Amino acid sequence: MPPNPGQSRLERLNNQIRTCARCPRLRAYCAAVARQKRAAFRDQTYYGRPVPNFGDPAARLLIVGLAPAAHGGNRTGRMFTGDRSGDWLYDALFTTGFCNQPTSTHVADGLQLHGAMITAALHCAPPGNRPMMQELVNCQRFIDATFDLLTDLRAVVCLGRVAFDAVLKHYQREGWIASRTLYRFAHGAEHRLTPCKPRTGRPVTVLCSYHPSQQNTFTGKLTREMFLGVFRRACELAEMS
Ligand code: SF4
Repeated sequence: MPPNPGQSRLERLNNQIRTCARCPRLRAYCAAVARQKRAAFRDQTYYGRPVPNFGDPAARLLIVGLAPAAHGGNRTGRMFTGDRSGDWLYDALFTTGFCNQPTSTHVADGLQLHGAMITAALHCAPPGNRPMMQELVNCQRFIDATFDLLTDLRAVVCLGRVAFDAVLKHYQREGWIASRTLYRFAHGAEHRLTPCKPRTGRPVTVLCSYHPSQQNTFTGKLTREMFLGVFRRACELAEMS
């Protein structure tokens, strides 16, 4: 079978991500976590490098998180894999038809996404889930390159405010929006953005969701129904011609 050009472009981008060392603080932290490990995973070899994008290069839906979890993606090497946030995300993606199984435990578990891709504002876990501004700026080039890959994009789900800001900044750099002040983050909010050159692209709807972190899911701030509601809407948008 001839190589799929979209898959080749995704692999090239992912290789750039895996070898990136622009943020010394984050690289040192991820490497230290990988050496020290959590007791429950002490027999495992942590991945410990920048976590690449995961999904379908022909995606109509892009999901943007904050960053890999220190003992989730940083351990397994795949976005939202091996942590509680991932349990929520892949359950929602499976329920709405974007993937072939409801769980994501390790890179060889057979999980495939259909019509969706997952990325993050940062590809390295930050200490305390608190990135520095310069680190977010350093990683912008990978967000931009990810959007460039997805030529048939219809919807973006932003998991949390940091992801939302990263997506708005991307569209501001691209000239789609002049200012970010008009765009409000709230769970379930949606914003339809139109390209600055309408003949060269199609509108994209940006959907906001609370992040499925334990801080939100354990406290009931985010329920399964609330989370599924965002992905059902994303599914409608992705199916529009
Ligand atoms: S966060 Fe992004 S820019 Fe910084 S080292 Fe990781 S991959 Fe590179």
